[in-house]
Parts: sequence; C-alpha cells; structure tokens
Amino acid sequence: MAHELPALPYPYEALEPYIDTATMQIHHDKHHQAYVTNLNNALKDAPAEVQAMSAVDLIKNLSKVPEAIRMAVRNNGGGHVNHTQFWEQLKVGTSEPTSGPLADAINSAFGSLAALKEALEKAGTTRFGSGWAWLVVKDGKLAVTSTPNQDNPLSDGSGAPILGIDVWEHAYYLKYQNKRPDYLKAFWSVVNWDDVAARFAAA
Ligand code: MN
Repeated sequence: MAHELPALPYPYEALEPYIDTATMQIHHDKHHQAYVTNLNNALKDAPAEVQAMSAVDLIKNLSKVPEAIRMAVRNNGGGHVNHTQFWEQLKVGTSEPTSGPLADAINSAFGSLAALKEALEKAGTTRFGSGWAWLVVKDGKLAVTSTPNQDNPLSDGSGAPILGIDVWEHAYYLKYQNKRPDYLKAFWSVVNWDDVAARFAAA
C-alpha cells in the first residue's frame, strides 16, 4: 500500500496574507509530494511488514526499518508525517486558548500563552539550517523542542507533537526572504488552535 499525498484541507490562498498562495502551492504540491514519492521509492524492496507500516509507525520505529533504507525513511517519512500535520494545524481565525485543559497546561508549563509563543519563536529562530520547532506533550506536560531536517519528536521519544512550525526556507522564503523571525511572528495568525487542542486531548 503506497503512501499518498493528502489533499490540502483548504484552498492554497486560505492563509493569505500570512502565508502566500505560491508558497502553499510549491510547498504542498512539490515539496510534500517529493517526500511521499521518495518514501515510496525507499520502501519498494522493503520487507512486507515494513511496507505495511503507517508513516507514523515508521518514524516511531525506525529501528525496525532495514539499515540500508533507514535514513531515507527517516528523512522522507518524517517529511510526510510532519507536513501532513502541518496542513491540518493551519487556519486563519480560530480563537487562542484562554480556558480549558490546553490553556491550563500552557499556563502551568510556560506561565502564559505569550511566553509559549516566545519560546517557540526562539526555538525556530535558533534552529540552524533547516528543521522544525515543536510544542510537544511528554509525560502529560507541555514542552518546546526543535529538530533538524525532517526529524520528528516521536522518533527519539522526546514527546508527542501537538504543534509544529516548519522553519525550512521553503516554508517562508518567497514572502519573507531571510527574515525567519518575521515569518514566525506571522505564524501565530494561522495556527488552528482547535486542532492543537484536539491533539493535546488525544496525547
Ligand atoms: Mn516544509
């Protein structure tokens, strides 16, 4: 069963003016598609039980993947999982958490939503080169972390990601050029907090 590119759950222009239409087209149709294609190519001759694993199971269990294709699966399986979550957690106009379990957990771990945003912006800004900044749930508590390349926090047990910010240049360069901090500031206008709250409840 081949892995497939999920459809974008909204039109390319839905995140304007914060994330531009051209970036969304290239990011979804070219970059995400390439991760899916390369993942399927890597798995072509893999054992049947590895071919049967979901992308999330693959990145959670990289030690079960034959060593010859493990790096390709880590990079492209990670790219597939990370971007699938990324599209789902983006939306303009949802309400920031002010009460409820997610808001309580944010206040308990960071003191305030503003402090959480600051921690995520710092994680994104200081990630050298390409990677992701993450809000994760570990042992029932929230934490901020970051990963290089397409690594996912599920792979090394650093937590279940409930919000991921793609800081690869391909995520922002057309509109923000070298100004990654400006992209990170604008990112708060496109967070689907309903999706983050649902992932927190499930974690
Ligand atoms: Mn990306």
